[in-house]
Amino acid sequence: MKRTEFKLKNDKYRKARGGYARVLHVYCSSCKSYLLSYQKDGPGPLKRLYLDRIFTPNIPSQTRELICKNCKIVIGTFYIYEKEKRPSFRLYQSAVFKKLAKNIKK
Ligand SMILES: [Zn+2]
Repeated sequence: MKRTEFKLKNDKYRKARGGYARVLHVYCSSCKSYLLSYQKDGPGPLKRLYLDRIFTPNIPSQTRELICKNCKIVIGTFYIYEKEKRPSFRLYQSAVFKKLAKNIKK
């Protein structure tokens, strides 16, 4: 993967999760392909992906299923995270694995 610079967002969502954030590169568990880069706020497992935290690629707003471009498996489905009224993808269990990105500006 090409090295890219990501600027971490620091907003109310991040503050609500303790202010701690990092960038994860997310991969398809089935075929090991790179899927996206993501800002994870706070501790805990990756259960959903908030659209406003996906750095790359660009996900069109009408996307209803997150699909691996390589093996076409469905990774997650769109829903609104009620507590924050925030567009997200609910991830299927064990659909992805992640690697921590290095050299990120906080
Ligand atoms: Zn795949």
